[in-house]
Amino acid sequence: MQLTRKSNAAPTVEKKTLGISRRQFMKQAGITSGGIAAASLLGTGMMRKAEAKDIPHDAPTEIKRTVCSACAVGCGLYAEVQNGVWTGQEPAFDHPFNAGGHCAKGAALREHGHGEKRLKYPMKLVDGKWKKLSWEQAFNEVGDQMLDIRKESGPDSLYFMGSAKFSNEGCYMYRKFAAMWGTNNVDHSARICHSTTVAGVANTWGYGAQTNSFNDIQNANAIFFIGSNPAEAHPVAMQHIMIAKEKNNAKIIVVDPRFSRTAAHADLHCGLRPGTDIPFIYGMLWHIFENGWEDKTFIEQRVFEMESIREEVKKFPPKEVANITGCSEEEVYQAAKMMADNRPGTVVWCMGGTQHHVGNANTRAYCILQLALGNMGVKGGGTNIFRGHDNVQGATDLGLLFDTLPGYYGLKTGSWKHWSHVWDLEFDWVKSRFDQNEYLGRVPMNTPGIPCSRWHDGVLETPEKLAQKDRVRMAFFWGQSVNTETRQRDVREALDKMDTVVVVDPFPTMAGVMHRRQNGVYLLPAATQFETEGSVSNSGRSQQWREKVIEPLFESKTDLEIMYRLSQKLGFADEFTKRIAKDANDVMVIEDITREINRGMWTIGMTGQSPERLKMHTQNWGTFSNKTLEAAGGPAKGDTYGLPWPCWGTPEQKHPGTQILYNTHKHVLEGGGNFRARYGVEYKGENLLAEGSFSKGAEIQDGYPEFTADMLKQLGWWDDLTAEEKAEAEGRNWKTDISGGIQRVAMKHGCIPFGNAKARCIVWTFPDQVPVHREPLYTPRRDLVSKYPTYDDMQVHRLPTLYKSIQEKDTAAKYPLGLTSGRLVEYEGGGEESRSNPWLAELQQEMFVEMNPADAADRAIRDGDTVWLEGAEGGRIKIKAMVTPRVKPGVTWMPYHFAGEMHGESLAPNYPEGTVPYVIGESANTALTYGYDPVTQMQETKASLCQIVKA
Ligand code: SF4
Repeated sequence: MQLTRKSNAAPTVEKKTLGISRRQFMKQAGITSGGIAAASLLGTGMMRKAEAKDIPHDAPTEIKRTVCSACAVGCGLYAEVQNGVWTGQEPAFDHPFNAGGHCAKGAALREHGHGEKRLKYPMKLVDGKWKKLSWEQAFNEVGDQMLDIRKESGPDSLYFMGSAKFSNEGCYMYRKFAAMWGTNNVDHSARICHSTTVAGVANTWGYGAQTNSFNDIQNANAIFFIGSNPAEAHPVAMQHIMIAKEKNNAKIIVVDPRFSRTAAHADLHCGLRPGTDIPFIYGMLWHIFENGWEDKTFIEQRVFEMESIREEVKKFPPKEVANITGCSEEEVYQAAKMMADNRPGTVVWCMGGTQHHVGNANTRAYCILQLALGNMGVKGGGTNIFRGHDNVQGATDLGLLFDTLPGYYGLKTGSWKHWSHVWDLEFDWVKSRFDQNEYLGRVPMNTPGIPCSRWHDGVLETPEKLAQKDRVRMAFFWGQSVNTETRQRDVREALDKMDTVVVVDPFPTMAGVMHRRQNGVYLLPAATQFETEGSVSNSGRSQQWREKVIEPLFESKTDLEIMYRLSQKLGFADEFTKRIAKDANDVMVIEDITREINRGMWTIGMTGQSPERLKMHTQNWGTFSNKTLEAAGGPAKGDTYGLPWPCWGTPEQKHPGTQILYNTHKHVLEGGGNFRARYGVEYKGENLLAEGSFSKGAEIQDGYPEFTADMLKQLGWWDDLTAEEKAEAEGRNWKTDISGGIQRVAMKHGCIPFGNAKARCIVWTFPDQVPVHREPLYTPRRDLVSKYPTYDDMQVHRLPTLYKSIQEKDTAAKYPLGLTSGRLVEYEGGGEESRSNPWLAELQQEMFVEMNPADAADRAIRDGDTVWLEGAEGGRIKIKAMVTPRVKPGVTWMPYHFAGEMHGESLAPNYPEGTVPYVIGESANTALTYGYDPVTQMQETKASLCQIVKA
């Protein structure tokens, strides 16, 4: 079998043995050539007509500028609309990110305008049957149940699962909704994709985001992928990667247990054993230090405690690294040498790096590699951390997380006071919404909630072990499908046990169908991204204003309208929308929400991106360079596309945005920067501030701390503030002064508002000060457990969390195969939406596991056979075998987008009529197991164990 495929379609061998033919598929799915048209006319009579043949030929065509919803590259497209019907689409050739490029998912977006598998009206489950409701009934019933549970068990017994599919405005308002309800039990899928990145990277140099941009990769001389497969997960990013390869002869290194489609483009592929990223990176650093390839000046001026890393790296000489990782000594040496010889180089990682029980330490190790090479703050360098969903960056920035308010302000009382001030509310009123008692020594308002990776433990755990009043009794699954979480059997049990389950989504999603309930489930149809407008942040921190393409189909409502109506029912609508005007239909004015975001987000500089500036950028795509992202002329002249944060100060100050973080070669007013002074000025008597390094034009020509009102006075710059600014800034700092005066004056003097410090290689507040290799909880290498053990069991925020008690049991004898998972180009996330899209569903029709020919032969399994795969905690799934040397002996790989079958049984009868996706299958997460990062509660989906037998 060929190792790689040349197109997005499945290779011939898969078509022949795993799938069914295209003709068979079309027939079974009822999608003959007229089928798509017919399907779009099905429905209830409330459906808007979405059929091209009903449109007169001479109907005028409106062109809407919108953004793909299927990954965080943020490709632009032109949607053609006639008489309110989405009739055509074109990739935007003048768009600065994609320049006319699209992948299969982007090309299939118009299906949103058909929506034949979508929820069409609110429903509830009554005695095992789906019953139609009016919206009014739905709001009343759901709201009454929320209030009843609040009375009995307190506000923390509600769980608010949110979405990386919301606009920035939607994310912000959902987080605010949870705050006004009085809980931190709110989270979204960043928890299970890049939470470990945010924690690891922010604690290294200041911000937990991609440092450069997709376009900037064109400037790289080396591109190092670890746990990232953009050829499938971020296809249009390959446009920029291939330009670097062709233009600069950039070296491509892929470190991945699997020979992925990206590896097919690589100069070097290293197939490491899952869960051994830290030894691999330390193996590279061993050669870098041994040969003196590190950037000594950079380290001296801008890095704190590389010495601790040198000490740790000494434990990982080439032989030890080869033994742990399974990569040869030569491969590790070549990886180090290629990165050292070809600077600047960039490091790219995704979920192969983050989804581990040591995920935060992995991401810190990648950062340390770049610090050692001096690759930070430069074109072609940086850490390009590709994100998955279209607005997962924005959802993270806007605090749709269990452990922070918007803008990474955290949950301390001062943070709540800042946001109460932004909301124009009394802090005491906000505080009164929360449970005022302490549980296990923790105060709910200031304690992180339950993470989305473990909401089910919040239901199933005994209340005495939870740091809140009672268990979770009711949950909203708003734009996220629960098949993305490991331990699906526990997820199902939790769904069964709750009082009420509420799904708010364009599709039923698994929370609505995988339980065994007869009552107490609500399905509320939300509009898609294309039926509303608002801003969305791509992986490179650029914001784009997405125009509304069509009106909400069927009876669906926008996320913002549903939130607002619920807040009215619950009695806090006035506080929730105090600064936000309503239009003639009593709908929130979205631009006012953007302005409120601008009013509060000083920490990351999400303050200069007014709705007017963002809309102007969208209307002028063609004026921005596909190479530099800068507008050479036109109304946005001098701006970087999408005003990537930090876009400091107020919109009127017209900061151009910051494409490359920590870049000292530019003035702050042009997007320059340096590492953030976030951890104080000294640690154990050692200076944490930068030494002899500062951004271009800075009047303080050395390291300096964060700006405060007092610091402006000490510097003699206080009188640079206006009288109004002084009134607001007094007693505050660059993060809490909502006049923007402190930021303005700091920048006037060429300084970065957040100070100028060193990046740090040790994090003294984390369980491991330096990244430490720890064998996975379920490891096939029992011989390494005593040398590289996991953590002791511990309480993390509200939940007890197991480590050693799992690892000490030897499961490898019964489950000898390593198990890892990943993404396919055809589908996205939990896959409910993309498997309901006939144009995508056709491309990959069956759930499968990749296994090496040797492992298959040992089990008498042939390519295409049906097999039972059993995970190390007993979760069993019935799927197809793909026998391929793409994975090494002893390693297996599964895609994670499937659902709709469980333990060999179809869940199709549980869906409301007409909503079963075209493709269903077993969820990989039914077989995947326990394991959580101690800092972020990221789940372990990349290093587990399984056994496979022929079915
Ligand atoms: Fe672009 Fe990503 Fe959409 Fe593909 S899925 S078109 S790469 S934004």
